[in-house]
Amino acid sequence: MERALTDFSAGHVIQPLRRIIPVPQHNGRMGSMPAVYGDVLGAKLVNVFPDNRSRDLPTHQALIVLFRADTGEPLAVLDGRLITELRTAAVSAVATRLLSPPQASSLAIFGSGVQARAHFRALSLVRNFTDVRIWSRTPENAQALAEEIGGRATTAEEAARGADVVVTVTNSAEPILRGKWLKKGALVNAVGAVGALRREVDTETMRGAVIVDSREAAMAESGDVLLANAQIHAELGELLSGMEPMPQAEISVFKSLGLAVEDLAAAKLVLDIVHSSRSRMVH
Ligand code: NDP
Repeated sequence: MERALTDFSAGHVIQPLRRIIPVPQHNGRMGSMPAVYGDVLGAKLVNVFPDNRSRDLPTHQALIVLFRADTGEPLAVLDGRLITELRTAAVSAVATRLLSPPQASSLAIFGSGVQARAHFRALSLVRNFTDVRIWSRTPENAQALAEEIGGRATTAEEAARGADVVVTVTNSAEPILRGKWLKKGALVNAVGAVGALRREVDTETMRGAVIVDSREAAMAESGDVLLANAQIHAELGELLSGMEPMPQAEISVFKSLGLAVEDLAAAKLVLDIVHSSRSRMVH
């Protein structure tokens, strides 16, 4: 993901803004996310159906199609559900490694779904969290997650106060995180709220240094950025490559929207692993 984001911010990826098609009769939407990256081109089609949560189905369903970039020949069709889950959390782990203090030990997770679990796992690979607080709209879900991962379910304010790293991974369209709760030096990974009119964090939070995955996507698709009239400090890929300086503000916010290049890079990695394990079996 570091390489994909660095290449994206250096202009080495062809990637138009995704198209999102509403499916109002089922409270869903479909996103079409194409890109050309290195030796592959392709697209993810991702369906977001929030009501699936009550049906015990993942709310995000996806397929990724990969082609050779030099000839256009098809290479693979992959399930995109798990890749979406893992690559999103991996990107937040990249931001956390770069932007949170190395000694960060307290983590607040807002939300208790697929991304909440994936973020706990991925962020635990880059920081040693000994105090994990969870807030979720449905307290029983927060409690269940807390028991599963050894954290504690709390109020939103208690979760955020004093936390070194905060992750917001909900389907909320209104702010659930208040900037006044955050401690100096905190990093917020704001991952939900995809859409120009949706936001998970308040204007005060967005007064911190705002890092995005894509400026273009943030200015079109992020209510957290647009409704707060936030200033964007840099893209994550620009920080990784040193093109832009590290932020000096008291609070850092990584606003993640999710990019097609992340899906293609992850899908290509899966394909390469499958090919290399097949060739090991043959030899
Ligand atoms: P899930 O459906 O698994 O979980 C959704 C979570 O949101 C649940 O914890 C639920 O809480 C909570 N929630 C739903 N509605 C509200 C509300 N109105 N107010 C507060 N909380 C609410 O989804 P995922 O974990 O897969 O995704 C979480 C978010 O991350 C979504 O917004 C999704 O679009 C976004 N996302 C972003 C990506 C990116 O690349 N940036 C990629 C993938 C997802 P409870 O169960 O307690 O009711």
